[in-house]
Amino acid sequence: QAKNTARNTMQFFDPRMQESINRRATDESDLYTAIENGQFELHYQIQVDGDGTPTGAEALIRWRHPERGLVSPAEFIPLAEETGQILPIGRWVINAACAQLRLWQSDPLMRHLTLSFNISSRQFQQPEFPRIVRRALQRHAAPADHLKIELTESVLLDNAEHAIAVMQQLRELGIRFSLDDFGTGYSSLQYLKRLPLDQLKIDQSFIHDISTDSGDLSIVQAIMAMASKLGFEVIAEGVETHEQRELLASIGCFAYQGYLFGRPVSATALLGTTEAVARAAVGR
Ligand code: C2E
Ligand code: MG
Ligand code: MG
Ligand code: MG
Repeated sequence: QAKNTARNTMQFFDPRMQESINRRATDESDLYTAIENGQFELHYQIQVDGDGTPTGAEALIRWRHPERGLVSPAEFIPLAEETGQILPIGRWVINAACAQLRLWQSDPLMRHLTLSFNISSRQFQQPEFPRIVRRALQRHAAPADHLKIELTESVLLDNAEHAIAVMQQLRELGIRFSLDDFGTGYSSLQYLKRLPLDQLKIDQSFIHDISTDSGDLSIVQAIMAMASKLGFEVIAEGVETHEQRELLASIGCFAYQGYLFGRPVSATALLGTTEAVARAAVGR
């Protein structure tokens, strides 16, 4: 009888499930190693204004894995969020970003740039978050008014009152806020109005087909109109072609980020990108 039950149980056992559990456990412990051994890097993607003049750069994390090579955040951030490892990783990001921002201050080409970084909901909800940011700025003597934090709508929806209070504290230091992946979330306009934001970052899914899909163009136009009423700047993400850029300019969007201007690159390579992009802007 017992044997039978066991056999029946076995019928529900899917070896692929065990595989995925093992893989997850490996990834999780690999992530601990990564945190301890400093296997993360920040890459930077340039942001430009309407003339194509560099105005800032977004820091994007990568994992330099000993066997897998450079691993993209899409492959480890979701797991890190689930396990809580995003907290030490996020703290590392903030410190690395502030150290970089400080370095830019001694370079005439870089010192006016804003540095944006991304944070996860869990990080933003942790009570120590404002202190972590303040300490990182102090430790590296980095200018807070050159720092921008990219949030997603989910960060804000999780606990709006808390989020607004934290944003206000950090704004007093001069830090600015951008709402990332804008248009893909669910926030109501009523709600958006209350947020102490500086910038909306239009999600790349609306930019991708903007020159062929009139629906996408209409959405972006509506975002532009709303942002101007609410006093938010707008930046378009995922700009890859001249056509997309011209179309965005024609509807009043004059801030861009995307492969057209540069891919995310190492801090060292960003110096070259910035110089080349700045030169192209002058020649335009
Ligand atoms: P995101 O913040 O929306 O970043 C933009 C993503 O779009 C980046 O992918 C960037 O490489 C990519 N991208 C930029 N321009 C173009 C373009 O013209 N075409 C296309 N197809 N893609 C473009 P990446 O670096 O793989 O990052 C993916 C996501 O991972 C980020 O989306 C962000 O949500 C998250 N992430 C990155 N770094 C961090 C971090 O330090 N902390 C946290 N919590 N999340 C991060
Ligand atoms: Mg972002
Ligand atoms: Mg985005
Ligand atoms: Mg995103």
